[in-house]
Amino acid sequence: MRLPPFTCPVCNYQSTLKTDMRRHFKRQTPCPKLENDIELTDEIKEYVLANRIYRIPAPPPPPPPPATTIINNYNQVVNIVNQMKPHDKLSCLTNHTNVELLDFDFHVSKKLHPQTMLYLQDKSPDTEPEYLKNQAIVEIIRDVCNSTAGDCSDFCIIFDAVKQNIRIRDRYTWQEMLLDKGIKHIMSVVQQIHLDAYETCLINKCQVVPLCEKETILNKIDEYYAFIGTFNLEPAVAESNRKGARVSPPLKLYEEFQKRFKAVTEKLTKPRMDAAVRDVCKILQASTKRNIEELNTKVMDMLRIDQTFRNAIMEGFQVHTM
Ligand SMILES: [Zn+2]
Repeated sequence: MRLPPFTCPVCNYQSTLKTDMRRHFKRQTPCPKLENDIELTDEIKEYVLANRIYRIPAPPPPPPPPATTIINNYNQVVNIVNQMKPHDKLSCLTNHTNVELLDFDFHVSKKLHPQTMLYLQDKSPDTEPEYLKNQAIVEIIRDVCNSTAGDCSDFCIIFDAVKQNIRIRDRYTWQEMLLDKGIKHIMSVVQQIHLDAYETCLINKCQVVPLCEKETILNKIDEYYAFIGTFNLEPAVAESNRKGARVSPPLKLYEEFQKRFKAVTEKLTKPRMDAAVRDVCKILQASTKRNIEELNTKVMDMLRIDQTFRNAIMEGFQVHTM
């Protein structure tokens, strides 16, 4: 097998004799850089004398361009956003706009506390208590499920009709719950923050009004008990020191009204209870649809005008998929 000639990597001088090459390397005048623009170091000379041919190592591959420049195309970002889950999309938007998401309990107390205060202050025996109709309670649920803050900060309930579950935002995260449990949770938050005060207000009224008016109030209480009973909730009188309760009725009345609640709920039928759950489901579905539409509009507007938002989405996407 014929060996290749010794070759100078700088000027391409060649010789089959090692002594010629050694002499070439010892010349005073540097080789013209005809072949490669490299420095003829002692290491390279040694290498050529030992191996005849010196190959310049390939340069390291250039670092990959930052993720944001790989796909910085508006349509692609839109595609990614369209595939995001609503709660992820919401986090992206509110992180970018520096908006703090409210947790559900706080959102409900912000909305309902002023109304609750009316019950708590309404201690005068002469004033008519403000009666809640069942329809009004349904309106309250609608009210607390709809995001109205304008910056999506109070978007805190997501109903998933396909998975039949509900995500409810608490202080730091989204709690995913099965439909029944989620509905009960929503109702119990509304109850503790608002409806307990209503119940207590009615019970207190009962004690001070003339007998002919007492019947009206008792009917209202029964109506209310039937409503919370359909969601398997307990009345305020069921616990003397319910955690987080803002109000409590006089102790001596507990037993009387607990019996009343029991009598009312014993008459509840399964169809009625199912219908009540379906009503709340419809509200959740409608409000979720509406909240997501609003969120989508905001995100799309932001994508159009804000390059840094597009980049943030891309970076999030890269992190997610890598
Ligand atoms: Zn040379």
